[in-house]
Amino acid sequence: VNRDEFSRRIDAVRASLTPAGVDAVALSASSDLTWLCGYDAMPLERITLLVVGRDGPARLLVPALEAPRVDDLDGLFEVIGWSDGQEQYDEAASLIADAFGTGGESTVAVADRMWAGAMLAIADRLPGATFTTASKVIRPLRIRKSPAEIDALRDVAHAIDSVAGSLGELRWEGRTEADVAAEIAGRIVDAGHERVNFVIVGSGPNGASPHHSASQRTIGRGDAVVVDIGGTMNGYCSDITRCVHVGDAEPEATKVYDVVRRAQEAACDAVRPGVTAAEVDAVARDLIAAEGYGDFFIHRTGHGIGMDEHEDPYLVTGNDEVLEPGMCFSIEPGVYLPGRFGVRLEDIVCVTDDGAEVLNRTSHDIVDVP
Ligand code: ZN
Ligand code: ZN
Ligand code: ZN
Repeated sequence: VNRDEFSRRIDAVRASLTPAGVDAVALSASSDLTWLCGYDAMPLERITLLVVGRDGPARLLVPALEAPRVDDLDGLFEVIGWSDGQEQYDEAASLIADAFGTGGESTVAVADRMWAGAMLAIADRLPGATFTTASKVIRPLRIRKSPAEIDALRDVAHAIDSVAGSLGELRWEGRTEADVAAEIAGRIVDAGHERVNFVIVGSGPNGASPHHSASQRTIGRGDAVVVDIGGTMNGYCSDITRCVHVGDAEPEATKVYDVVRRAQEAACDAVRPGVTAAEVDAVARDLIAAEGYGDFFIHRTGHGIGMDEHEDPYLVTGNDEVLEPGMCFSIEPGVYLPGRFGVRLEDIVCVTDDGAEVLNRTSHDIVDVP
């Protein structure tokens, strides 16, 4: 992602203000801010705020001590430092007021993830303003990835593929989940990620909790293990799930795996422009239900991915959003049998002009370790 792309993004946000009925957007530290200007602000109690109005320069208010970390992309936006001892919310409110220009009532769209404390302090100082969420303006722009973003997601998918593809090389039996997870985390970094976002190693009954992390449970023979891993590389996220069987798992674990695999592959095949998010969810859900495991598929089929691990669109019952080229999301059906085991299979797919590209290439076979 280069300067031209950031420049296009800022222009696109400006062009969206009037149709959205918004006079300015104000983004505190968040992926929205990073997406718009490239600056990955630390989520500090000191405020960082990017303000874009209809005209005038985009302006970034930063704690003075953070200013050296900011690249203004050859003046694409103005950087304004505020020092400790200054009233940060006075500075933030006056920057927003400047962006309103003239005119009475104004509407400001603030980052959806702005802290409530900051939001309320700013609102206090702008009694004439109406507030709304910035996702109104930014969501439609971020949900369809640009070619540069799809390249970044493809690269990070290949990086995590190399880790997922090496699961069979690890020693599993007799080690704790936490120990195996630490080794996998090292491999995620070695594969080129700048950050490990999560390593789920759910062995045996722990696998039946979809967001189980990694515990002190010792992995034993006969365990089915759910391994769900992801990290960030060049600002974009990876996310993949594969299943490991240590020795011979109970027969139903293999049977359920086959069901989940067929559901996952059918849902991937169903992805194309014009289909709704809910329809893709239903493809996986109906197949699993027909096999008698519907009550044990306890989460949505997938989530969008980009700069955030979880972002729009969500592949969930009731989401009638129509898929469009450039949307990228996970397809990750699962079946969880309480007290026994879990099964999940996950890849990232990108909607193309006439279908879908599955970004992950790691085999869907169960990783059988002796
Ligand atoms: Zn999740
Ligand atoms: Zn995952
Ligand atoms: Zn996921």
